[in-house]
Amino acid sequence: MTELGPTGRPMPNIPEPTPLTSHGPARVVAMCNQKGGVGKTTTTINLGASLVEFGRRVLLVDLDPQGSLSVGVGLDPNEIEVSTYDMLMDSDVTWKDIVRPTSIDGMDILPAVIDLAGAEIQLVTEVGREQVLKDKLTEALPEYDVILIDCQPSLGLLTVNALTASDSVIVPLETEYFALRGVALLTDTIERVRKRLNPKLVIDGLLGTMFDGRTLHSREVMATLVQAWGDTVFHTVIRRTVKFSDATVAGEPITEFASDSTGATAYRQLAKEVLARWQHVA
Ligand code: ADP
Ligand code: MG
Repeated sequence: MTELGPTGRPMPNIPEPTPLTSHGPARVVAMCNQKGGVGKTTTTINLGASLVEFGRRVLLVDLDPQGSLSVGVGLDPNEIEVSTYDMLMDSDVTWKDIVRPTSIDGMDILPAVIDLAGAEIQLVTEVGREQVLKDKLTEALPEYDVILIDCQPSLGLLTVNALTASDSVIVPLETEYFALRGVALLTDTIERVRKRLNPKLVIDGLLGTMFDGRTLHSREVMATLVQAWGDTVFHTVIRRTVKFSDATVAGEPITEFASDSTGATAYRQLAKEVLARWQHVA
């Protein structure tokens, strides 16, 4: 009998990523869900760190005024002098002016601070207000293989900017009944951005997070998700473990903080699965 994976489907053989001989242009990916606390930021950090382990150069973009991504890679918000807010609001500020290294060699970040909350309102009156991030990231494309944008929990103008700048979207979803409700609203937004602003935009996949395989509940939610979305649902799922909060406090990816943990292993597998999907569409 074939072994079923945590999503209830047979686990495919996920190939090892091919090593790169040169870098860029980057694929831009938005981590998106208007619900908070579903694992967007955790996935951005750990998918990024795992992609670096596979030899990819990665740029993280913090587009959440909460700045959790910036803190999660070990930055002190009080020491961030220029941020994505300045890049979006000031036509003279480029990505190069705000980029910072992280503790992971090969992974950089464009950090955010709370000021970014103002950008949502201030951008409304700009001409081409949905395209500002896309324009600013254009010059960074040759320097990286992957740019991951951590979105805030809303479908406002910052998220529309992220979707307009992106080739694809990854949707982390907490494996809970309520999680399924918001997906239609999110995919409507993605569809609208695709029609009006960014025809190439695709959904890479839906990622089940905080999964507890011991509970019927988690398994049922997973089954419902697969029934509705089929192979759009990643075979990789991220299990619930306190190690993620511990890693956040330490300001490190779990792949560094607890390199052999199930969480680290899962994000490495997600990186492989994502790289395989990108090869299909690229
Ligand atoms: P979002 O960015 O969608 O708001 P986060 O990635 O910040 O979500 O996650 C919310 C909280 O849940 C954080 O405290 C994080 O450490 C924790 N967390 C994330 N993924 C998991 C997981 N798989 N298991 C347990 N806790 C998790
Ligand atoms: Mg977040």
